[in-house]
Amino acid sequence: MDLKKLIGGRQFWSLIAVLLILFGVLLIVGHPKEEASPAPLPPPEDDVKVLVLNYHMVNSMFISLAIEPGDFDWQMKYLVDHGYHSISPDELYDFLAGKGTLPDRPVLITFDDGYEDNYTNAYPILKKYNLKATIFVVTGFLSKRKGYLTWDQLREMEQNGITIESHTVTHAPLPELSDDRIREELVESKRQAEAELGHPIEFIAYPTGVHDLHIVGIAQEAGYKGGFTVKYGNVDRSSNVYAMERVPVFRTAATNVDFVDRLRYTSNITQFGWTRN
Ligand SMILES: [Zn+2]
Repeated sequence: MDLKKLIGGRQFWSLIAVLLILFGVLLIVGHPKEEASPAPLPPPEDDVKVLVLNYHMVNSMFISLAIEPGDFDWQMKYLVDHGYHSISPDELYDFLAGKGTLPDRPVLITFDDGYEDNYTNAYPILKKYNLKATIFVVTGFLSKRKGYLTWDQLREMEQNGITIESHTVTHAPLPELSDDRIREELVESKRQAEAELGHPIEFIAYPTGVHDLHIVGIAQEAGYKGGFTVKYGNVDRSSNVYAMERVPVFRTAATNVDFVDRLRYTSNITQFGWTRN
């Protein structure tokens, strides 16, 4: 088929002219910065992700909050075998404040509440693998309630890599309390632990993780440097130091498989913003 014959000579040349103009416009619009050199790459972001594990009990009660001693041993060995290095809350704080560096694959191992099995079951395993850990204690329960740690046990553990911090006096849910009661829970637990242990208590784990900006303000006034939640995720430079993320470890039908999955996928989940608000 001859296009020139079909649409007539004049129209044919008009069509060619229109196409040439369009082609020229596309060239200009499509490559506006062809002459400019490519922009330099931005400096690499500090993407250190700190894993903060959250345990409660280490025993064979077969409840979700209780990791069996054999499983706990397996998990601690897994951390060591995979190049994780345990750190203290102060090391994490200094890193976030820009004052210190962290080892490769940093992990902060934490326990909430202050159960006696942290001493009888977890502590020997932590010592075996030379791992540091942190226990957030409910000060009003210590040396009083059955099943909870004593101050003597805490003092002994502090000689061997365990850090003690506050989990309030009574474990009451803070958002439901009056300001005076919130202040009492935060100030009195700090004062009590400082008197018993002889060093500053500077971190709080909010009971059941619940907190809000108002509570954070009171914690700050009370002299805490940072706080931990149960918001699922890794801590990094964008974390709020008064609302640091943790990865809870539960007993499940496949406790250790789930543990490894959590280590492997948490940083991706955090990165995509699925767990932050
Ligand atoms: Zn608790």
